[in-house]
Amino acid sequence: MSRNLLDTPIEYLKGVGPQRGDLLKKELGIFTYRDLLHLYPNRYIDRTKYYRINELSGTSSEVQIVGKIIHLKIVEQKRGKRLVATFTDGTGEIELVWFQGFKWIKDNLKINEPYVAYGKVNSFNFTYSIPHPELELLEEHKKSLSVAMQPVYPSTEKLGTKISNKAMNKLMTQLVTETYALYNDTLSDHLKSRLNLLSMQEALVNIHFPKSTELLEKAQFRLKFEEFFYIQMQLLIKNIARKSKIKGFQFNVVGEFFNTFYSNHLPFPLTGAQKRVIKEIRNDMGQPAQMNRLLQGDVGSGKTIVAFLSCLIALDNGFQACIVAPTEILATQHFIGISEFAEPLGLNIKLLTGSTKTAERRVIHEELENGELQILIGTHALFEDKVIFKNLGLAIIDEQHRFGVEQRSKLWTKNTLPPHVLVMTATPIPRTLAMSLYGDLEVSVIDELPPGRKPIQTLHYFEGKRLAVWHFIKTEIAKGRQVYIVYPLIEESETLDYKNLMEGYEGISRDFPLPEYSVSIVHGQMTPSEKEVEMDRFAKGETNIMVATTVIEVGVNVPNASVMIIESAERFGLSQLHQLRGRVGRGAEQSYCILMTGDKLSNDSKIRMETMCRTNDGFEISEVDLKLRGPGDIMGKQQSGTLPLKIADLVKDQDILHYARHQAVELLKQDPSLENPDNQKIKQKLEALNSKSTIWNYIS
Ligand code: ADP
Ligand code: MG
Repeated sequence: MSRNLLDTPIEYLKGVGPQRGDLLKKELGIFTYRDLLHLYPNRYIDRTKYYRINELSGTSSEVQIVGKIIHLKIVEQKRGKRLVATFTDGTGEIELVWFQGFKWIKDNLKINEPYVAYGKVNSFNFTYSIPHPELELLEEHKKSLSVAMQPVYPSTEKLGTKISNKAMNKLMTQLVTETYALYNDTLSDHLKSRLNLLSMQEALVNIHFPKSTELLEKAQFRLKFEEFFYIQMQLLIKNIARKSKIKGFQFNVVGEFFNTFYSNHLPFPLTGAQKRVIKEIRNDMGQPAQMNRLLQGDVGSGKTIVAFLSCLIALDNGFQACIVAPTEILATQHFIGISEFAEPLGLNIKLLTGSTKTAERRVIHEELENGELQILIGTHALFEDKVIFKNLGLAIIDEQHRFGVEQRSKLWTKNTLPPHVLVMTATPIPRTLAMSLYGDLEVSVIDELPPGRKPIQTLHYFEGKRLAVWHFIKTEIAKGRQVYIVYPLIEESETLDYKNLMEGYEGISRDFPLPEYSVSIVHGQMTPSEKEVEMDRFAKGETNIMVATTVIEVGVNVPNASVMIIESAERFGLSQLHQLRGRVGRGAEQSYCILMTGDKLSNDSKIRMETMCRTNDGFEISEVDLKLRGPGDIMGKQQSGTLPLKIADLVKDQDILHYARHQAVELLKQDPSLENPDNQKIKQKLEALNSKSTIWNYIS
């Protein structure tokens, strides 16, 4: 596209000007002609359909009615003035209401002339009203009725009062008329004809002014395809570049440590998924390029042994490895688990956390630098400048459910070449998201639990059933089991949380009295060592019940605990519920998760409860979560918000995503460096995208 005209600041478009221009910038981030051109309609209204007033119901949303204004009055109320017009079409009456700018409206409205009123219907006490309707004289409306489908553009409350949808349509007409000759294509002729895609020009014109439903669908497909296609192209090209650039240690030895452990010391047969994932990792590290792989596996899927085997590959090649965990408890658990695995191999493994004593630290620093220390496990203490490895070959980051990006880069700088990186997460990322963010090539998935686990049974109870739940707890405790009771944490109000938790705790202590029962409590206002003491008592079986806020979400391992009660479960998100549930089901016994909620549940809450009761599969849960919350909330704004998707929807358009990915893979197979003349348009667009570096900011 010709740069100049489409890069014109938006205020220069006829009908915009400085004031509206400012609003467009502030409210919708539209700075240039190009930005406005890519403001796609949310939906389209059928402007050939007219409602009768006696047809209106509480569920009519946006309607178009032909009628006359028979009466106009200004109503004064405490909350301010409003202008009310009585509008009739012979079948009934409705009110048209304005809260703002109505002096001008009042002076210009014509009584008893046929108008077309358009807007969203409110119903109140059996009267219908349309606040801030769009009004057009019937005669003019007939003249302007060129399109059957009128686009409705995204707007905001502020913007809507200054630029109505009708005005936006006018701006768009102006823009498209001025610029449509400049919409050059961004896909090759080959691709367009083979996939039967509209040209960019046809697509853009029809997305704003659809000539038919069929053309609209084709325009939508073309533009969605385009968005996914270019993300996939960028990801694929980046992967090819990484693989060809020789910038990682090549671990081509599978040696003594790995083989000895694998043949003689595996504590259990690996699951098929574990074997597959280890193969993927081995293969990656065997290339002369840096591995940057995400390992996803539900809680309890057995990621630790995979991590350990990966470390052994590094060791076999003469390198060191490290494992970083988000909390001290988790780091310690890894240290204990890995040390157990490593026992028969006689490896030098050490733990470094914030509470490591100075003397021990000194030993660690020394052994790290002279290479005696083979595996270092710890918290973010590992990122301190004093921690210098002799030759770090593999860094494993156990993130549980955070996607921290910044700290990772620090480890790079300690080597001439970057170490291979394996990031482990227990929160499954929906496949579609993973595909758009990582291109799918660098994600390993453990989608199979070790055999013999009894699936956790999940039940949802309303508050009224509390007695039955308490009774159930008592029978479980009588069998020797232990119970978690978790309260939600509201970040805005720590004191309120504390109060809820304490009230809960007091109630529980009353219902489960000493000496028959003993109850632990852990909350955010305790010091780490106080928490540890309480956790420890529970872990040792000295207490029957652990009352806690979500601090226990991450990394507690008490196999004898078989019941997880989640209070006010409607206030937790799906992934959090799933994480909490993962605290039980770690022993041989049947485990239960009980979701307690109030009687009134929002639709979303109902779906969350049903989903939890229906499935234990973290991937399935993550897909539902994605549908409920959208990608922004799941990945964090910083990661998904920058996905350049203006029209495509990760949830609804999965088929197009897969299709676009397939096409991108095929294209790069045939023409890896895009030399074919027909592919020059694609190459140019990629170069333009790269120069903006929209997508690389958040990957790796
Ligand atoms: P996570 O993926 O949550 O880190 P862990 O690695 O802690 O899971 O494994 C959970 C439990 O399952 C551990 O007790 C571990 O020893 C056990 N485990 C892992 N893999 C297997 C397997 N293939 N067969 C039997 N038990 C296994
Ligand atoms: Mg783990």
